[in-house]
Amino acid sequence: MLYRNALLKISGEILSGDNSKTFDVDIINQLTHDIKAVLEKKIKLSIVIGGGNIIRGINYSEYNLNKNDADNMGMLSTVINGIYLKNALKNVNVKSKIFSAISIPGIVDKFNHESAINEINTGSTLILVGGTGNPYFTTDTTSVLRALELGCDVILKGTKVDGVYDKDPEYNDCL
Ligand code: UDP
Repeated sequence: MLYRNALLKISGEILSGDNSKTFDVDIINQLTHDIKAVLEKKIKLSIVIGGGNIIRGINYSEYNLNKNDADNMGMLSTVINGIYLKNALKNVNVKSKIFSAISIPGIVDKFNHESAINEINTGSTLILVGGTGNPYFTTDTTSVLRALELGCDVILKGTKVDGVYDKDPEYNDCL
C-alpha cells in the first residue's frame, strides 16, 4: 500500500552518524536524498525531528540540571536540528517549512494545523520542531499528536533501533 500523507519521525541521533559529532554531513546527505526519493512518489511528508544528538532531558542529573530546564533544552535542540534539516533539504532542492511548538519570532513560526496543512498543500515538506512544547514528553508523543492533527495515514520512525523493545534498547535485547 502506498501511503499518501506520511509522518516521519527522525531521531536526533540519526543526524550524528556514529555519535562522534553532533552532525554527520554524509549521513544527512544520504537522509535528504532518501527523503527526496519519497517525495518524488507524490507522498506528502511531515517530519518530526528529535534532539537526542544534542541533549535529552532524561540525562538531567548527569549534567546537574533541573529536569524542566533540561527538557526545555531538549526541545530547543530539536529546533536547531530542524534548521539544519531545512538547509540540507534545500541543498537537494526540496522546499520545506519549519513549524515549532515553541514560537521563536524571526527564527521559526508557531505550529497550527491550518497553516501547516495549507503549507503542505502548496508542496512543502513540513519540519516539525519544539516537541509538544511541554517538558516530560518526547518527540514520539509529538509525532502522534501531529499525525492526528495533519490527518496522516502512517507514522514511520527512523532511529538506530533495529526491532521492538520493551526496555532501553541500549542495554537490552529486542523482543
Ligand atoms: N522534549 C520535551 N518535550 C517534548 C519533546 C521533547 O521535553 O514534547 C525534550 C526531552 O528532554 C527529550 C528532548 O526534548 O529528551 C529531545 O527529544 P527526544 O528525546 O524525543 O529526541 P530523540 O531521542 O528522538 O532524538
